[in-house]
Amino acid sequence: DAETDAPAVRELSEATVERIAAGEVITRPARVVAELVENALDAGADRVDVSVDGDGTERVRVADDGRGMAREDAARAVEPHTTSKIRAADDLREATTMGFRGEALAAIADAGDIELVTSDGSPVGTRVTITDGDKRIEDAGRARGTTVVVTDLFGDRPARRESLASPAREFGRVSELLTAYALARPEVAFSLEHDGRETASTPGTGLRDALVALYGRETGGESTAVTHRSGVDLADRAANLAVEGRLCYPSTTRSTRDHVHVAVNGRPVRDDALRRAVARGYGSLLPSGREPVAVVRIDLPAWAVDPNVHPAKARVAIRGADAVADAVETGVCEALTTADLRRSGEVAM
Ligand code: ADP
Ligand code: MG
Repeated sequence: DAETDAPAVRELSEATVERIAAGEVITRPARVVAELVENALDAGADRVDVSVDGDGTERVRVADDGRGMAREDAARAVEPHTTSKIRAADDLREATTMGFRGEALAAIADAGDIELVTSDGSPVGTRVTITDGDKRIEDAGRARGTTVVVTDLFGDRPARRESLASPAREFGRVSELLTAYALARPEVAFSLEHDGRETASTPGTGLRDALVALYGRETGGESTAVTHRSGVDLADRAANLAVEGRLCYPSTTRSTRDHVHVAVNGRPVRDDALRRAVARGYGSLLPSGREPVAVVRIDLPAWAVDPNVHPAKARVAIRGADAVADAVETGVCEALTTADLRRSGEVAM
């Protein structure tokens, strides 16, 4: 392969950059965390450790045990529009990675001070620091993986700083986000710290354990698996669809639908139609006005999902979205019909 000696991280062409749904990426501390966590997942990490000080403008740290970067890739990665994940605009359609725009690290470095320590397993790792726009590259010791520390976020953007809510609210957003990633990727161990105190962690041993870790044994443990596979027609193109996840018993419900977690192709998404489909699958098992706690992971062919429609990638466009929602409802309904819900006590059988 003639490309093996080429650097992994490359600059995208102007034409490609124009087709990327950019917008302002770093609007608050939780966005820094999201971008760094996505990079860790794209690097194949088995563990992702996040720590936040104050409202997150003071300090955010994300450490992973992923594949790390060689020195020249690390130096290039913090520049605008550099990525190892796509080469050209056409790759956007088939991108299976969480990132693809090559702008997160540069945008973070622009909004605050960044220190990136990384090693791809070679004897000497690399530290890249950008302080007030000054880039330095040094040797650093580190096991394979990457740690990024961001400090003084929005230090020179008083308006941005003022638009932030209280530290508790800003951290709350980080916490929700970590929950969403941890449930979308339950084979990865996550931990979250606020002001030096651990607030959440998942063991990386599957969805049931992640649910128990985040929602407690009573809610997370009292759940049943959903596995549904079907062929669907997505706007005149046939596709195989897989729905899997866990559905907490209707004995524990919530007043909002925020605890219906949906992931599409490994990416947590805020999709009201899909959340509603999950709730519809519970049907009359839900007391009126109550919403379930559930995790549903949907796998679709890459061509059916366009993640490039929202700057924060919180939404995706799904081709044939109604057919997908119907399949989700069916899968949830089937799983609950066959589950032994009597243990939950509240459902008369
Ligand atoms: P994108 O994720 O869209 O490619 P980023 O600016 O987030 O853009 O990252 C630029 C590049 O830096 C990535 O394509 C990847 O090659 C490298 N990179 C960033 N974070 C990590 C990490 N935690 N581990 C390994 N490589 C990373
Ligand atoms: Mg990225």
